[in-house]
Amino acid sequence: MGQPILLRGALILSMDPAIGDLPQGDILVQDGTIRAVAASIPAPDGALVVDCAGRIALPGMVNGHIHLAQSMQRGLSTEHAFGGYFQTIVLRHSNRMTPADVQLADHAGGLEQIAAGVTTVMDWSRETMSPDHADAALAGLDAAGIRAILAYTAPPIPQGGDAAAIHGRMIAHARSLLAARAEGLVRIWTCLQGPDFTPLEPALADMRRLAELGVPIAIHTGASIYPNRKPGLLRLLDAQGLLNERLQIVHANGHEPAEYKLAAERGVMLCSTPEVEMRMGHGHPAMFQAAAAGMKVSVGTDIPSMVGGGLLPQLRVALAAELHRINLAALAAGQGVPATPPITARQMLEFATIGGARGLGLDRVTGSLTPGKRADLLLVRADQPLTAPRSDPAGLVLLQASAGEIETVLVDGRFRKRDGRLVDPGADAVFARLQTRAEEMAAAASR
Ligand SMILES: [Zn+2]
Repeated sequence: MGQPILLRGALILSMDPAIGDLPQGDILVQDGTIRAVAASIPAPDGALVVDCAGRIALPGMVNGHIHLAQSMQRGLSTEHAFGGYFQTIVLRHSNRMTPADVQLADHAGGLEQIAAGVTTVMDWSRETMSPDHADAALAGLDAAGIRAILAYTAPPIPQGGDAAAIHGRMIAHARSLLAARAEGLVRIWTCLQGPDFTPLEPALADMRRLAELGVPIAIHTGASIYPNRKPGLLRLLDAQGLLNERLQIVHANGHEPAEYKLAAERGVMLCSTPEVEMRMGHGHPAMFQAAAAGMKVSVGTDIPSMVGGGLLPQLRVALAAELHRINLAALAAGQGVPATPPITARQMLEFATIGGARGLGLDRVTGSLTPGKRADLLLVRADQPLTAPRSDPAGLVLLQASAGEIETVLVDGRFRKRDGRLVDPGADAVFARLQTRAEEMAAAASR
């Protein structure tokens, strides 16, 4: 048995309705698992006791969609719309990354997420261009110590290339990884651009091939800006037997209202990335409509080349956008705006925690402070310039705190951030190397 960790005297937002909030309570962690959450827990022999006075404890956040390898291109898309992003980041940077670059970027990106209170990421990796790249992405995620799903992509097929043969090699490698990664911190999915980017038949053929693996497939759908957007796509996928609980649709802004209901009935997962979607013109984030229809919804950050800082900025942008939409509609109808906002801070935190875990099929593992789940949790300082005085704790975390107040992060029961600093002893070297390689790649891309 490992050393027990007793977090003592925190204000606890368990995000588990059976436990609720505790104004002051203790959390016992051992061997990576949450053992108990209660108002007072006696310290077991040999326990590490952490004084959590003035801290809010909540589950680690779940980022439902990020292209983690783009941590190498952080900030390069600040002024990009979709076309400029695709031309620059995808075609001039991502496609030139070596396996070592991917390992470095995934490691650095994983650390960024941990620093911002994210303990689970879904890494939609367009950079798994070869088995070596995929192994490197996994090595980077392992080094960061973050819970992750690596979504392994089918590489682009060159003109006249044999799609079946190329994808066959990818599927064989993914299958070997699946066996090795069935349990544990990093799991395997697959991902594809999807039918909104390419002609329909080849896209469906790719999806059918990947479906053989029996793991979820993630595709980008429904954004108004996609080049081959197909009205009624979800109905069309349903007719092909591809609309099921092993599908995650990302963005998914512009589907018909009935399609969200159909997707909910089929168990489809959806991820919204509010800031990028609204900046690039994908459409209004679908998360509220999809959740109301009963879908399993997560929130993601999407492209580090444009935005960062973990999930809190995304939740704020999404909440403001939805309240703005509701208020404008009320005013246009000659009514007053709602006397109290119809979406609460707690509902937004649910999207980032238990809802997000459900949105990745990981809610039995993470997403709430529930005994028996893995110990993915945060301690947020509520006595700092940005967060004092303590009032409504969910509102304080959602609307006031930043990564700077996220003092402690445990992933799978291990400290990954402590006393406000990343625990990884190699972190400084990782970011120094990232700077050097980013400069080299930017120089090469400009030639
Ligand atoms: Zn994306």
